[in-house]
Amino acid sequence: MVHPPTIADVNEADLLPESLREDFPILQQTVHGDKPLVFLDSAASSQRPRQVTQALVDCYEQDYANVHRGIHVLSERATDAYELARAKVRDFIGAEHSREVVFTAGTTASINTVARSWGDANLAAGDEILVTPMEHHSNLVPWFQLAERTGAVIKHVAMTDDGRLLPEAFDEAINERTKVVAFTAVSNTLGTVNPVKEIAAKARAAGAISVVDAAQSAPHMTTDVRQLGVDFLAFSAHKLCGPSGVGVLYGREALLEAMPPFLGGGSMINRVYDDHFTPAGLPAKFEAGTPPIAPAIGLGAAIDYLQAIGLGRIHAHEAALVGYAWRRLADIEGLRLLGPSPLEHGPEVRAGLVSFVLDRPHAHDIAQLLDRDGVAVRAGHHCTQPLHDRLGITASTRASFYLYTTRGEVDALADSLATVREKFR
Ligand code: PLP
Repeated sequence: MVHPPTIADVNEADLLPESLREDFPILQQTVHGDKPLVFLDSAASSQRPRQVTQALVDCYEQDYANVHRGIHVLSERATDAYELARAKVRDFIGAEHSREVVFTAGTTASINTVARSWGDANLAAGDEILVTPMEHHSNLVPWFQLAERTGAVIKHVAMTDDGRLLPEAFDEAINERTKVVAFTAVSNTLGTVNPVKEIAAKARAAGAISVVDAAQSAPHMTTDVRQLGVDFLAFSAHKLCGPSGVGVLYGREALLEAMPPFLGGGSMINRVYDDHFTPAGLPAKFEAGTPPIAPAIGLGAAIDYLQAIGLGRIHAHEAALVGYAWRRLADIEGLRLLGPSPLEHGPEVRAGLVSFVLDRPHAHDIAQLLDRDGVAVRAGHHCTQPLHDRLGITASTRASFYLYTTRGEVDALADSLATVREKFR
């Protein structure tokens, strides 16, 4: 029996106006003939509004040249726009200085930079790197590789059965050997919102650095690195209405200053001699080679777009949808929802995505059948294999929401899923 939706299931005041979908031409299409596209895969990569694609077109058609090196008008314009984008990121995450904002290729590249640069310089055999059971592979594998290089040890903090990280668990897991506490702000599989501030404070009190994977939080809620007290924070533009190919590594200035550069090449040097070099200052030291110029400018436009709407409103919109989705999906026979219940814990602990397993059919078949109804979701392990092991499953199906997702799309998901389950009765 599918739960009959009522208006009371969603506080209308929390929902963003559907008219903003007009900014996203890609969402205004039908697939498989006449099925309206229901795009519920934004946690993998979001769509972007016209304002962002226009910023890319303007850059390439009017203001493009390589940055920092040219003494001509186009290079100056491109450099100004690129550095303005950095200032927008600084404001977006509440960093003190623009030089604490490093443009990278994305979250994965940012975390690898910390592991290679800070990690190689500071870790020794026997030191401990604390991770959590809900990490994306990009916040695990770089630490495993660091442990292989240095002899450091990987430790996992405990997680509750419904997929939450309690600050107390960190008290038990952190000790005087802990050098790194690497954790996600929001789980890309469970939707859990973690207590970043408390965890970062515990890391710092023990003399360890905190490395926060903000790939799933920066697009959906306000980020303030100083208020959170984090040492490093990473995110990708393509999940927050920006272009692919660019992301951010935030690092506290004192830490970045003390770190050796990771990638070597042009732009990251102060002076090159016959057999050695001196590095550039921040942030150029960590931006070797030609950077992602237009993508960074596009990221700046995405930040403008999100800030004009307000991150608080985006979070409230997604919280309303996830509560509604939870109610509707919970009534589907044989369906197990993963992660903490938004009905029990609310938006403080729950972000805008739902992952689930059905007793039948398999996650990949579910995704394929939903796709025939125009509903785009993700199926598999979502780059969280250790988490799936912990949950005793090999794969799950994930529907993820963003500012342009409507309640009607959640209904389309629930209706299509109920039909799929019915077929496999
Ligand atoms: N961390 C989390 C929580 C993610 O969801 C993702 C992307 O799915 C990543 C890291 C990796 O991001 P990227 O592929 O943009 O480097």
